[in-house]
Amino acid sequence: MFGKSTLTNKLLNRQIANQGEISKKNKMGKNTTTEVTLYELDKNTYLLDTPGFQNMDIYEIESKDLENYFIEFKSCIKNCEFVGCTHIKEKNCGIKLAVSEGKIQKERYENYIKIYNELKDKEEHKW
Ligand SMILES: [Zn+2]
Repeated sequence: MFGKSTLTNKLLNRQIANQGEISKKNKMGKNTTTEVTLYELDKNTYLLDTPGFQNMDIYEIESKDLENYFIEFKSCIKNCEFVGCTHIKEKNCGIKLAVSEGKIQKERYENYIKIYNELKDKEEHKW
């Protein structure tokens, strides 16, 4: 298990670098619901910014939505064979392909798997 701040930091690693891209899109008026940015406000405080939700806890992310938080995954998801691909066990996965080709950093993909499993675990023990 990972501590919350560890997970947050893993998510934040690259998201902050993607901020510029998002604000540019906003200026152009193309504000889509899948654009999500995580801002680190303080060491253990963070803001999840989406058009609909603010100050959402990272653990309120649904595992199936996690891919939206890894912005560089987006352009590769269309190469997945299955709709609803989790990019973990599936064959013919566009994300796995991109990782093997070096288009997506292996570390980022590993973080995705770790966080996905955490969220999945939480969802299964919800009730
Ligand atoms: Zn996939």
